[in-house]
Amino acid sequence: MSLLSVKCKLIPDASTAEKLSRTVNQFTQACNYALQVARRDNVWNTFALQRAVYRELRERFGLSANLAVRAIARVGKRKGHKVGGFKATSVDYDQRILSVNLDTEVVSLSTVDGRVKVPMRIAGYQRHLLRSARSIQGGQLVRGRDSWYIHLWCEYDDPPPITPKGFLGVDLGIVNIATDSDGETYSGKHLNSVRHRYRRLRRKLQKKGTKSAKRLLKKLSGKEHRFANDVNHRISKRLVVKAQRTGRGLALEDLRGIRERVRLRKPQRATLHSWAFRDLVRKLQYKAERAGVPLVFVDPRNTSRQCPACGHTDKANRPTQALFRCVVCGYSGLADHFAAVNIGRRAAVIQPNAGA
Ligand SMILES: [Zn+2]
Repeated sequence: MSLLSVKCKLIPDASTAEKLSRTVNQFTQACNYALQVARRDNVWNTFALQRAVYRELRERFGLSANLAVRAIARVGKRKGHKVGGFKATSVDYDQRILSVNLDTEVVSLSTVDGRVKVPMRIAGYQRHLLRSARSIQGGQLVRGRDSWYIHLWCEYDDPPPITPKGFLGVDLGIVNIATDSDGETYSGKHLNSVRHRYRRLRRKLQKKGTKSAKRLLKKLSGKEHRFANDVNHRISKRLVVKAQRTGRGLALEDLRGIRERVRLRKPQRATLHSWAFRDLVRKLQYKAERAGVPLVFVDPRNTSRQCPACGHTDKANRPTQALFRCVVCGYSGLADHFAAVNIGRRAAVIQPNAGA
């Protein structure tokens, strides 16, 4: 059996955030009060301490029975620590006062103002860890500088879920629909020529504007969809199989990056159907999840401008659309490949977020 703490971002609305804040504050004050009593009377045994402070914690600090028990348990662990009280940053939860709906990805927490439901914002890797857990034992609510997190304590049967040995970075593009950090390309040449043909046809039909032209248009877009759908199936399958075979996770730019790309490459803008990209991302997510391959999204900023050898980031590193040549160290290669390498590395850096 193994335990893993999985960190998930919470997105509470304003009134829920206020309730969470009050709970963190009250819980911390209760902990500090119990700590005072424990020190004064030298009572660290949880049951003895509970007898001494339980009523106070309920009445003075407004904690529910279970939250009071969690506060006392936290203080009990402090025995032997000489300095410091507790800072108001977190609350401990057990299974009775925390539950997770994996379908809706909503966490239910008890607060000093009753139960609240808070949506999580998680990526494929966390989803994989949560869904493969035998049970979720509870967690810790954490208030960050301007965001909320829940660290969920997940319990697994042995063997624990796969921990990736690195990440296969994937850069999504237009000429090549995908390029991975090993340098393999997943071509969209054929797809693009088909799209061009369809686009010309569509323009003609739109000009006509007759009933039969409209009917043809509809049929055309259906064909186009099916074609892209098929290409995306094949590409996503190849990528997931490769990651699985080599024991790696998959890393992609988040959607911000894909939008950015659409904006940057104006000449090809018309070629690119953003739905086809979103569809590819969805297929990758779905297939990766089914294969137990962690998939993470990384910050897309400058992935195509940063030198993978020396780290120098510069627009001038890109003499052409296809080429990368670092103006500082001279390292050069295919731009899409280098972008994929950067994406893979960024995933390796953020991955411990979800680890123990
Ligand atoms: Zn360089």
